[in-house]
Amino acid sequence: MQDQVAELQVHFWLVLLMFAFAIQTFILLFWVNAPYGRFTRAGWGPTISARSAWVLMESPAVLVFVAIFFTGDHAFELAPLVLLGVWQLHYLIRTFIFPFRIRETGKRIPAVIVALAIFFNVLNAYINARWISHLGEYPVAWLTSIPFFAGVTIFIVGWIINQHADIPLFRLRKPGETHYSIPEGGLYRRVSCPNYFGEILEWTGWALATWSLAGLAFAVFTVANLLPRALATHRWYREKFPDYPKSRRALIPYLV
Ligand code: NDP
Repeated sequence: MQDQVAELQVHFWLVLLMFAFAIQTFILLFWVNAPYGRFTRAGWGPTISARSAWVLMESPAVLVFVAIFFTGDHAFELAPLVLLGVWQLHYLIRTFIFPFRIRETGKRIPAVIVALAIFFNVLNAYINARWISHLGEYPVAWLTSIPFFAGVTIFIVGWIINQHADIPLFRLRKPGETHYSIPEGGLYRRVSCPNYFGEILEWTGWALATWSLAGLAFAVFTVANLLPRALATHRWYREKFPDYPKSRRALIPYLV
C-alpha cells in the first residue's frame, strides 16, 4: 500500500514533467523548427537515416509500453486491454509500417533529435501504460461510459484522418524523386497538415477515453509539438509555391 502511494507520487511528478516539456517545446518551436523533413539543415551533429530513425524513435512507444503494461495488477482486465489495443493501433503502424512507406530520399535525422524522441517516448509510455494497467481503475463498466465512448470515437476519426493524409504525401514523389509539391484532395483542400490534425484528434480522444492526467499531458504535448510545426509548414508552402491555395488553413479546417 505504501509502495503504491509512493509510486502514485512519482507518477504524478513525471506527469507534471511532461506538462513542463509541453510548455518548453511550444515556446522553443516558435523560434527553431525541429531539423528533420522539410526543415532539415546541417549543424546538428551526427545523423541517422530517416527510416532507421523513425523505427528507433518510436519503438519505445510499442515495446516499453507493452513491457510496463504487463507488470500492472489490472493488465489482464478487459478495459485496460482495450485501451492497450487503442494505443497499439497507432504505434504499431507508426513504428513498423510508416517508416517503410516514406519515400527513401537520403534524408537524415540528427541523433540528438532521435535521442530526445526516445526519452520522450519512454517517459510517455511509462506514465500512460502504468496508469491504465496499474495505478488507474478501469472496471468493465468503463467501456460503456460516455468519456470512453466519446474518446474512442474521436481517436478513431483522428486515426483515419492521420492515415489517409499520408497516402497523397507518399504519392507526390516517384521512386528516386526528392522534390516537394502541393498535396491535393481530401482534407488537403482545407488544411496544409491534416496528418497533424488527425494526430491531435487521436491523443485528445485518448485523454478522454482514459480520463487521466497522463493522457491529458500527452494530448497537450502533441498540440505543443505539432501546432508550431503546422504553422511553420503552412508558411513554408506559401513562400515556396506562389499559387498555393489561399483558402487553405494550417491545421484546423476553417480555424487555424
Ligand atoms: P510530414 O508531413 O512533414 O512528412 C511526412 C512524409 O511525407 C515525409 O516522408 C515527407 O518527406 C513527405 N512529404 C511531406 N510533404 C510533402 C510534399 N509536399 N511533397 C512531397 N513529400 C512530402 O510529417 P512528419 O514527418 O512531421 O510526421 C510524420 C508523422 O508523425 C505524422 O503523422 C505526424 O502526425 C506524426 N508525428 C507525431 C508527433 C507527436 O508529437 N505525436 C511529432 C511528429 C510527428 P520529407 O521527409 O522529405 O519532408
